[in-house]
Amino acid sequence: MRPDTRAVHLPQPPIEGSRPISVPIYQTSGFVFDDPAVMADGMSRPDGPFVYGRYTNPTVRSLEEAVSGMEGGAGAIATGSGMGAINTVLLGLLKPGDHLIAQKALYGGTAAMINELVGRFGITVSYVPEDDPAALRAAVRPETRLVYLETIANPIAQVADLPGMCAAARDLGILSVVDNTFASPILCRPISHGADIVLHSTTKYLSGHTDVVGGIAVFADEALWKKVWHFSIELGASADPFAAWLTLRGMQTLALRMERHCSNARLLATRLAEHPAVSAVHWPGLPGHPSYELAAKLLPDFGGVFAFDLAGGREAGEKFMSSIRLALLAPSLGGVETLVLHPATTSHRSLSAAELSRHGITEGTVRIAVGIEHPEDLWEDISQALP
Ligand SMILES: *Cc1c(COP(=O)(O)O)cnc(C)c1O
Repeated sequence: MRPDTRAVHLPQPPIEGSRPISVPIYQTSGFVFDDPAVMADGMSRPDGPFVYGRYTNPTVRSLEEAVSGMEGGAGAIATGSGMGAINTVLLGLLKPGDHLIAQKALYGGTAAMINELVGRFGITVSYVPEDDPAALRAAVRPETRLVYLETIANPIAQVADLPGMCAAARDLGILSVVDNTFASPILCRPISHGADIVLHSTTKYLSGHTDVVGGIAVFADEALWKKVWHFSIELGASADPFAAWLTLRGMQTLALRMERHCSNARLLATRLAEHPAVSAVHWPGLPGHPSYELAAKLLPDFGGVFAFDLAGGREAGEKFMSSIRLALLAPSLGGVETLVLHPATTSHRSLSAAELSRHGITEGTVRIAVGIEHPEDLWEDISQALP
């Protein structure tokens, strides 16, 4: 071969007698076959030979198997974002005329997507509290397909009654879908409480280092996994191998990070609750949080994301945001750095004070996604920014 051709067809030295410790990044869009039957097999199932990057990839499958294993699932589909996973499941399962039931407190992107489904795709929705199986039973109709829940909701950390809600869904013959992003599989494994599908924005705790966007859907049942996979390969929300690799790399320290996120949150929530400038702290590990008793039964610890209300309202919230130094003003959560945001002037800026209160927040509410820094450095920063 001439150099021109050698530059195109690169050697791939076989690895024999040893194997890599770290999962390799298979940065390839497709795979080569000796036998067309093997290729056809790979195109027909999620656990077959590797064919094409939009179907899956060895690095991506490593992530799918790892998260599915942690969640106790039969299989998983990794996606390019958390919203990609949510849409893979909602669009893969719902059709015009179907009804879905969702909890009232939902991640903003999910709430907006459900409005799209209702406005443009002929799907109807009913909202129920996340901890009220009787309300779920009352809302169900013959055309109800699924109930959509979040283990811990944003920003005031309501905890869903997963055992009660999933058991009711099972009795009613509808699927239960749980966004487990805020808890991570370290704090909660919804399939063990009866969920059919578990969703994550892996952008958050699973990857943990604020350097990648990704998502995953984990299925309790193999047939349902394969059904949604067939749809997902046409939808094209697939995960990129490098993003999957970054997620795998971050995930190896998930349990250690969660321990620190939770203990840091406990210290900050406890001290904030005693501070005269703070009128309320919404961390489910504090007695007095509406989910405290449920959370204490369901979760070994209470997560790293919570909100607190400044008694001084909007002005105090704005002053807090401009005074904070170590914590960063940024969206997202679940990374090693502590992030803060003031919903009334950012994520929830289009809402009136009355609408804010329907989300359980005020104009003085600050949301904090606690990182893994030394807790006393965080407290020094937060306390100097309080009025
Ligand atoms: C961030 C987030 C999502 C969306 O995930 P992306 O990776 O940003 O697409 C969905 N649900 C929850 C609870 C989230 O925090």
